[in-house]
Amino acid sequence: MRFDTIIIGGGLSGLTAGLRLQKAGQKTAIISAGQNALHFSSGVFGVLKEDSVIPEGHPYTHLPLEKYLEEVKPFFLDAGIRLGGDPLKNGWRLTPSGTMQEGRFSLEEATLFSAPDEFKATKALIVNIPGFLDFNTAFLADGLAKRGIPARVACLDVPELTSLRTSPSEMRSVNISRVADSVSGKVAEAVKALLKDEDLVILPQVFGLQDAGIPARIAEAIPSRVLFIGTMPPSVPGIRTQLLLKRAYERAGGTFLMGDEAIAPVMDETRVKALRTVNLGEQLLQADHYILASGSFFSKGLASSMQKIYEPLFGLDVEFPDERTQWYDLDFFAPQAYGGFGVVTDEKFRALKAGRVMENLYVAGSVLARTYGQQLGCGGGVAILTALATADNIMEAQRV
Ligand SMILES: Cc1cc2nc3c(=O)[nH]c(=O)nc-3n(C[C@H](O)[C@H](O)[C@H](O)COP(=O)(O)OP(=O)(O)OC[C@H]3O[C@@H](n4cnc5c(N)ncnc54)[C@H](O)[C@@H]3O)c2cc1C
Repeated sequence: MRFDTIIIGGGLSGLTAGLRLQKAGQKTAIISAGQNALHFSSGVFGVLKEDSVIPEGHPYTHLPLEKYLEEVKPFFLDAGIRLGGDPLKNGWRLTPSGTMQEGRFSLEEATLFSAPDEFKATKALIVNIPGFLDFNTAFLADGLAKRGIPARVACLDVPELTSLRTSPSEMRSVNISRVADSVSGKVAEAVKALLKDEDLVILPQVFGLQDAGIPARIAEAIPSRVLFIGTMPPSVPGIRTQLLLKRAYERAGGTFLMGDEAIAPVMDETRVKALRTVNLGEQLLQADHYILASGSFFSKGLASSMQKIYEPLFGLDVEFPDERTQWYDLDFFAPQAYGGFGVVTDEKFRALKAGRVMENLYVAGSVLARTYGQQLGCGGGVAILTALATADNIMEAQRV
């Protein structure tokens, strides 16, 4: 099979790049091995922390950053994803532990405040689904108390949701959403019945798997302000985003090889010529260009042994210190150096292998070096912006 571009990885970066290229008229395929970081999304994408200067070598140093930031919202809207947030300025979200965290673009049900102290309430009502353990209400109430907001915890009384408890394995966010969405009117009524004098209601992000408008409709029916807060994975807004991006990509004519894994690339010193996948066996997939969007350690885009950090598919150059003790900090909560390890590229995001530029292999997203998800709060932003850039660089290379 022959394509203009083959993309390895169907997470936020792979789908963004694929959709961009399909819209530009290319014939592309995405090979997607499995779960990706969107399934764990908080509902907010980071770009860079407000006070951080772009560090030398960071992927953003190769980008017309403002241009791409302005393009993000319309690009996603085209795929049916309405993003909130100011493209050029960070906002703040309330986390499941009651702290405030920076972020740039919010998915439909997530709220970004323009400053941490803009989030105010006198009293809060935290509402959970009976038996749902992936939303830690005590933790959240504790965090709110530290902010001077007393919170009461209560459970929804909606028979359709309560009956889910008969099978404990059903009590996951996505299964709850399937039922809750069909009774969203009853959910709003049940919340209203619980409400006393609280000016803030907090609900878990378990609504709107197929219809992003449902959380807003629930909020409108409740007289106090409503915030939807992230749960333990799977993330309902993240999975919905992936479904919408994948749908838009396929509608644009893209080929999405779901549950397949890219293996055994055929390459010379500077070019990838073909690769195989686990499901397609001996059949070769060929393209003019390739994009590696295989994620970081979590998605197996990067791997490690006792001696080294490596990129397992192509054996690309990876940046990491030789001294193993510099890979991590024993303080679990400290920023971890390994968050910045990844594949090294030139300014066009073309991978380096043994110090040489791979002319037709581009890299996007969290497999790139220096993305530092946690420290800089920029994970989702790196994925989106570098994907747009790699797609544009490929289109430019095609024109030359
Ligand atoms: C648990 C977790 C939660 C996060 N939450 C947030 C958040 O809330 N906000 C934020 O801004 N950032 C978050 N991040 C940072 C995150 O890295 C980015 O937001 C972004 O989603 C990464 O997208 P990606 O496409 O680069 O990689 P991924 O989402 O990791 O996707 C890579 C995909 O490539 C596939 N793959 C790997 N190898 C192959 C192969 N050989 N063949 C085929 N497919 C392959 C993997 O299976 C995976 O599906 C989070 C990261 C993690 C790990």
